[in-house]
Amino acid sequence: MSPHVLVLGGTTEARRLAAELVARSGVRVTTSLAGRVSRPGALEGDVRVGGFGGAEGLAEWLDEQGVDALVDATHPFAAGITANAARAAAATRLPLLVLRRPGWQPGPGDRWHPVDSLDAAADLLPELGRRVFLTTGRLGLAAFAGLTGLHFVARSVEPPEPPMPPRLDVVLARGPFTVADESALLREHRVDVVVTKDSGGEATAAKLTAARQLGLPVVVVRRPPLPADVTVVPDVPTALARLGLGGLGPQAGARRRS
Ligand code: NAP
Repeated sequence: MSPHVLVLGGTTEARRLAAELVARSGVRVTTSLAGRVSRPGALEGDVRVGGFGGAEGLAEWLDEQGVDALVDATHPFAAGITANAARAAAATRLPLLVLRRPGWQPGPGDRWHPVDSLDAAADLLPELGRRVFLTTGRLGLAAFAGLTGLHFVARSVEPPEPPMPPRLDVVLARGPFTVADESALLREHRVDVVVTKDSGGEATAAKLTAARQLGLPVVVVRRPPLPADVTVVPDVPTALARLGLGGLGPQAGARRRS
């Protein structure tokens, strides 16, 4: 019977991995989405939408659906589902691979202020600027709702809902964005400080280049830690090599956290 791979998705890498796996005949792929976005892009293979009901629900689903390998290709800040994947894989004794794009690294000229949470970013903002470009996602706006003296420009894929800051312009857009796009946006809104999560990846990195070129400070929210003892790969080719479609034995290119 074809091996069945469950990809926990919601990222560009998950979409690419599903396409690559489908292109390899004989692999059945199911991508799981949380259902946060009303019109997700097309995906190769089977798709299921919605929570599993915690780690136990995910473990049951893995059993019932005859899954052979689990790939957590969720966003680096989706810590809840990543923890559940680790617990469910341990409970079912299934191989688990975590596909995580590397985080961004500051370069010469960058004025980055790393913080551990959105709340810490909100605490820091008043001393850095008055007009803020927020790219933390619509669900992250609540952390800034109390900053009534600052003006915010928030970009998100879907319209945000309260709680959110009272002085707010919303830009609805989905990446990728160019440096020219980002520079124009920062200038148009007279932004003097940028806030981002350390999401990594090319699609949304242009804002960092634009901020550097304009000399703007950037508050960068660090990633939440990964569960212990999970195997992490940085990109789709390494994930495919590591899967080997016959098992998840140790191979070059992967690192193991402990
Ligand atoms: P989260 O806090 O880690 O997860 C909360 C709950 O949502 C999970 O316990 C699970 O519910 C459900 N869930 C999350 N991802 C799922 C998936 N791929 N398939 C099925 N259920 C899922 O997640 P989040 O930060 O809200 O992110 C939700 C989704 O959006 C993720 O798939 C992620 O890849 C994507 N995303 C997140 C961000 C971000 O900044 N957090 C950015 C871009 C995309 P149950 O416990 O009921 O199973």
